[in-house]
Amino acid sequence: MFQHRSIKHCRACGGATVYAVPADDNRDRATCTVCQLVHYENPLNVVGTVPVWGDQVLLCRRNIEPRHGFWTLPAGFMELGETTEQGAARETDEEAGARFEMQGLLSVLSVVRVGQVHLYFRARLLDTEFAPGPETIEARLFREDEIPWDELAFRTVRDTLKYFFDDRRKGQFSVHCADIA
Ligand SMILES: [Zn+2]
Repeated sequence: MFQHRSIKHCRACGGATVYAVPADDNRDRATCTVCQLVHYENPLNVVGTVPVWGDQVLLCRRNIEPRHGFWTLPAGFMELGETTEQGAARETDEEAGARFEMQGLLSVLSVVRVGQVHLYFRARLLDTEFAPGPETIEARLFREDEIPWDELAFRTVRDTLKYFFDDRRKGQFSVHCADIA
């Protein structure tokens, strides 16, 4: 089971926390030894897109750690106050500076090891002018046979690209729900 055990100080009063099972609960929570506040830790959502231009997809080369210099799909942590689609669109704008139209959900990937859920939407590019942001070294289009499979930043990116190209071959897109070990 995934355990953060990373909260050492109370968010409310700064007091020391200990991990203990609160009454009426069934797992360890960081609990403040001073004000008794219980800190709940839950998975984070990562949202992104597969931007498509004809038979090509847009990948971004990461200018940030982790996996600096590796290729990825535009994606990032969802923010409060936005939907999954809005978050995916915002990340695509920030990282690639692309113009696009959002399409259907393609993948929902649970990454239990790091406490994350990754959601990727297909997006139809409207042109091929990109303006990558500071988190991206370069953004460019790849055909399936050009994808740098050994230089992809994350397993979720690799699996999502495989779902995309497999579905495209079949002529029908569906939602792929899977666990990433
Ligand atoms: Zn406290």
